Amino acid sequence: MSASSFSNLPLHADLLENLSTLGYTSMTPIQAQSLPPVLAGKDVIARAKTGSGKTAAFGLGLLNRLEVKRFRVQSLVLCPTRELADQVAVEIRRLARGIHNIKVLTLCGGTAFGPQLGSLEHGAHIIVGTPGRVEEHLRKGSLKTRDINCFVLDEADRMLDMGFEETLDKIIAQLPKKRQNLLFSATYPDAIQAMASRVLTEPTMITVDTGH
Ligand code: ADP
Ligand code: MG
Repeated sequence: MSASSFSNLPLHADLLENLSTLGYTSMTPIQAQSLPPVLAGKDVIARAKTGSGKTAAFGLGLLNRLEVKRFRVQSLVLCPTRELADQVAVEIRRLARGIHNIKVLTLCGGTAFGPQLGSLEHGAHIIVGTPGRVEEHLRKGSLKTRDINCFVLDEADRMLDMGFEETLDKIIAQLPKKRQNLLFSATYPDAIQAMASRVLTEPTMITVDTGH
C-alpha cells in the first residue's frame, strides 16, 4: 500500500469503496496533506491550484463526519458561482453514491426560490450554495443552521473578489459557534487572511505549490 493511498486514512469503508469505484487510486498532494487534519476535525486553510482535487479534500471530510440517520443539514459549502456549486454537488454525490441516501441540495441564485423551499422542507444532509441565496434562506428561516457542524468556503479568493464579504459575514453570524471550518482557495491574498482570522480557529495552513 503506497503512502498516498486513501486507505491509510480513518475513512469509513463505504467511502473507501466509492473512491476505488471512481478510480481514485491515490491521493493528490493537497488531499494527502489536508485530509489528516480535516478528518481529525481541525480547522484548515488549504491552497492549491485549480484541478488539484480540492473538492474531495473537503468533501470526504464532511461526508466522513456526517450522521446519516439524522436527516438534518450538517454541512454548508459556499461557492462563488452556481456553476461551481453544481460541480461541487456532483462531486460530493459521486463520493457519497449508494451510502444510505445521503441528500445533497444546491441553493443558488438564478434559479426559482419556491422549489428550493419545497426541497428544504423535504430535508437534506449537505447544502452547497452561493452566498446570496443561502443568506436569503437563512433570513427567511427556511434553512436551519442548528445542526451544522462543518462549514466550507470553496474558492474563497473568488468569493471575496466578487464582493461577497458582507454576505459571508451575515451567514457566519448565524452558524453555531462550535463547528469545523475549512477554507479552500487557489490564491491567498491579504483579504483572505483577514476573512480567515474571523472565520477559523487555530487553522492548520497547507499550501501545495507546483511552481519552482
Ligand atoms: P479543484 O477544486 O482543486 O479545482 P477538483 O476537486 O475539481 O479540483 O478536481 C479536479 C478533477 O480531479 C475532478 O475531475 C476530480 O474528479 C478529479 N480527482 C480528484 N481527486 C482525485 C484523485 N485522488 N484521483 C483521481 N482523480 C481525482
Ligand atoms: Mg474547486
